[in-house]
Amino acid sequence: MKKITCNLPDSLHEALMERMTADQSSCDHVVSMALSQCLGKPLHTLFQVSTSAALVEGLYQGAVQVSRLLRHGDFGLGTFISLDGEMVVLDGVCYRVASTGAVTVVEGNQLIPYAVVTRFRADFSEKRHQLNSFQELVRVCDELRESNNVFYAFRFDGTFSQVKTRVMHAVAEGTRLKSAASGQEEFLFEEQQGTLVGLWSPGFAGSFSVPGYHFHFLSKDRQRGGHVLDCKALSVTISGCSMNEMHVSLPETEEFLKADLTRDPNADLISAERNHES
Ligand SMILES: [Zn+2]
Repeated sequence: MKKITCNLPDSLHEALMERMTADQSSCDHVVSMALSQCLGKPLHTLFQVSTSAALVEGLYQGAVQVSRLLRHGDFGLGTFISLDGEMVVLDGVCYRVASTGAVTVVEGNQLIPYAVVTRFRADFSEKRHQLNSFQELVRVCDELRESNNVFYAFRFDGTFSQVKTRVMHAVAEGTRLKSAASGQEEFLFEEQQGTLVGLWSPGFAGSFSVPGYHFHFLSKDRQRGGHVLDCKALSVTISGCSMNEMHVSLPETEEFLKADLTRDPNADLISAERNHES
């Protein structure tokens, strides 16, 4: 980290102050984001709303607007109020996959309870012809990762022979994630062109992230998607980057401030997020 001092026109200084207040962000953060965009130098920072421990305990109230989320990243995943659908953020657009299977673009003023996004820029990229199982896909990502101790974003673009996804139904307030996941819808797509949006989080991040791999799918025509339980690829380009900075925005809702989040969420997360047949 380097420290600089510089002179700004009054109008820019005022705009900077307004943005810091609106986003509840530091001067360092807003200036770094602006310089990163202006100079074309990506900042590999993860921006997260709420924590996985809060989700596990059934805290699904809206915390942050989608427009704010998209100012921090163009690639990522998350969920919606009452767990009503799966979120895919791809190329700067936030999509909602509903439990009916329908995909819609989410308006900027909507509040969301949990999401993780980054500005995706590929540090590495390679083509693969066939990936015969989710396990094989995971092995390929493992080979591309140089560390177990930083975060990674993975993007798979191409043709998938099969993608099995799940989409959560809306649940009553306070329903724990584990029981919410037992009422999910499952979809099986065949011969689909599309993108897997993936994140890998280190084990030590388990109380605020979903540890290990977490993938959501969106078809090329933006008509199908969901949280990936299983998939097979025919031909894909895999790209990704590592991230060693994280910005976590904690909800200020009464429910979050009063909740008991001391329980280790890992066992419930594994049960809610993985394929139930494997
Ligand atoms: Zn998911």
